[in-house]
Amino acid sequence: MHECARCSGSVGDAYRFCPWCAAPQRLKLVEFFLSAHFEEPDKLFRVSRYLHDDLEERHVRFSIWHDARVDAAVSLEDDEAERLGRFLLDTSQPPRSSLRDLLDRVAAIRY
Ligand SMILES: [Zn+2]
Repeated sequence: MHECARCSGSVGDAYRFCPWCAAPQRLKLVEFFLSAHFEEPDKLFRVSRYLHDDLEERHVRFSIWHDARVDAAVSLEDDEAERLGRFLLDTSQPPRSSLRDLLDRVAAIRY
């Protein structure tokens, strides 16, 4: 049991919504990503960001789904998840510009 943050009513931990005021008890954002591996086309990567008023409770959970079941999961605290996000952004390829494509085509014709 825990106390509802909105109405202070007593709420069972299994409830996702407060039975007294209907406030959501667990806020999370979920996004699925498709596997790029050709041998595992039916696996999904799910990222869930758990939002909570108490900053200590916030975290990001990564899970691998196959046939509607979780194969593996790991949770990161927000600061580690943000470090992961920065790593992915910092190491991504910048988009090619149409000028770069044109210069590459001209260079290919000349040689
Ligand atoms: Zn409530």
